[in-house]
Amino acid sequence: MTIQEAQNAVDQWIKTIGVRYFSELTNMAVLTEEVGELARVMARKYGDQSFKAGEKDNLGEEMADIFWVLCCLANQTGVDLTEEFRKSIEKKTKRDATRHKENEKLK
Ligand SMILES: [Mg+2]
Repeated sequence: MTIQEAQNAVDQWIKTIGVRYFSELTNMAVLTEEVGELARVMARKYGDQSFKAGEKDNLGEEMADIFWVLCCLANQTGVDLTEEFRKSIEKKTKRDATRHKENEKLK
């Protein structure tokens, strides 16, 4: 599935099953909430906290939740994530061409 196909799939789901998009600000809050859920799993899996009884390691699920809401926000604000991601890679490649290679902390 391409990024564009993901945006289209989310749009179809919202318009058929979800009825309509939540407002942009509501989805921004939901995105923040989902990032918090990912942080919770990360803290337990890679950090010093431990899973409580019944809690599961659902790292991938939480990442997908974030991507879902990001697709919602992109769709409702007219953002083409494929093009923006392409531009982001280009920007980082130019900006950081030697930055990380010259970072002594990374050696
Ligand atoms: Mg979640």
